[in-house]
Amino acid sequence: MRALVYLAPGSAELQDRPAAQLVHDDDVVVEIVGTGVCGTDRKILLGRFPARPGVVLGHESVGVVRETGAQVRSVGVGDRVVVNPTLYCGWCVPCRRGATNFCRHKAGTEVGVDRDGTYAETVALPERFVERVPAGLPFRSAVLIEPLACVLSNVRAASLTFDDTVVVLGAGPIGMLTALVAAREARRVTVAETDGYRLERAREHFTHVVDVAGTDPAETLLKTSDGERPSVVFDTTGTGLDAALRLIDDGGRVVVMGFDDTYTVPLRPLQLTNRGIQVIGAGDYRADIFPVAVDLAAELSAAPRRPGTSTSTSTSTSTLLDRLVTHEFPLEQYPEAFAALGGLTQADQADRAGSGNSTQPPPRYDALKVVIRSHRGPVGADGWPVAE
Ligand SMILES: [Zn+2]
Ligand SMILES: [Zn+2]
Repeated sequence: MRALVYLAPGSAELQDRPAAQLVHDDDVVVEIVGTGVCGTDRKILLGRFPARPGVVLGHESVGVVRETGAQVRSVGVGDRVVVNPTLYCGWCVPCRRGATNFCRHKAGTEVGVDRDGTYAETVALPERFVERVPAGLPFRSAVLIEPLACVLSNVRAASLTFDDTVVVLGAGPIGMLTALVAAREARRVTVAETDGYRLERAREHFTHVVDVAGTDPAETLLKTSDGERPSVVFDTTGTGLDAALRLIDDGGRVVVMGFDDTYTVPLRPLQLTNRGIQVIGAGDYRADIFPVAVDLAAELSAAPRRPGTSTSTSTSTSTLLDRLVTHEFPLEQYPEAFAALGGLTQADQADRAGSGNSTQPPPRYDALKVVIRSHRGPVGADGWPVAE
C-alpha cells in the first residue's frame, strides 16, 4: 500500500509499505477513507514536535472495517468507523485512574507519531480504538471527531459556566471547534485570529471575531472589549500564553492547547498567586471522552436546516462541523495538502509570508481543515466514497 512516511524535520515521502494485517485476536484492519491534517503533523514536519523517523504519519481518520480478529465483538466488516489514535494499556496506574491519556506505556502507542498512522490505505488497531460512526453522520464530518474529543477535554478542564466570558486565540480547526463548544456553555465567546482567510471563515460562524494581525493580541482584544477582561482564555495557537496571561481577568483560567516545543514564556509565580490565575494543561483526552465526541458530532451535524436554504450554504453556527473541511487531496498530492496550511517546512512558510529574514514568520492559511484521502474507490458528489 502507499503510505506517507516521516523521514526527518522538513522531510516526508510516499513509500510502498505492506498492507496492515491482523496480529492479535482483538485487532481490526481498517481501510482508511480520509485523514484530517492536524497541526501536530505540521509541527512534526517543522521539527517542533518529536516523532519517530520512519513512522507513517496521520491520526485523525475515518474508514471502513475490512477484517476482524477472532475475538472482535464491537464492530464488524463493512462498518464505518473513526479511529481513536490515543492508544493506552488499560492497566498501569494512570490508566486505572481513568487518565488513559497519561498511560505510562505511551512509547510506541501514539498513532501517526511513534506508531504507524493513517496517511495510508490501511491500518490495524485493537478494536477498542475504533468507534462506529453513527448512521447519517457523513465521513466528512466524522473526520473531525478526534479533534472534537481533544476540544471537549480542554473545554471541560475550564469548567465553564454561563457567566464566563471566553477568548479563543486562533481560528484554525481547533480554535473554531473550541469556540463552538464553549459557546454552548459560556455567556460570550470572542475569537482572535491573524490570518485573513481564517478571519473570514470565523465571521461566518461567530459574532465576536477580532483581527489581531500585526498587533499585540492582548491590547487589541482589550480595546475591542472596552477594557473588560475575559474570565477564560483558550490558547489554541501554542504561542499565545504570554498574551493570555496579560489578557485574563483576575481569578481567570488560561487553558493552553496548541503544541509548540520551541515556544517558552517567562512566568512570575506571584502574578498567578496575587491574581488567582489558573494555568491549565489538559493534554489530549481520556478514553471516555471519545464516544462523547462521536455523539456530539452526530448532534452538531444533525442540526435543523432552515426551510428554503440549501443544506450547504446555511451560515448558522450549528453547521460549522459540516463546513470545517475546506479542502481534500488524494494521498499523492500531500505536498499540496500541507501547502494549503502554510507549507511543509520553515522555508515554505518564509516564502509564503514574504519575509525570509524573520526566523518564525506567521504562517498564512488558505484552508481550515484539510483532509488527505486514502480511498481509491468511487466517490460521491462531495468527493467522499459512495456509501457502502
Ligand atoms: Zn490531531
Ligand atoms: Zn496505561
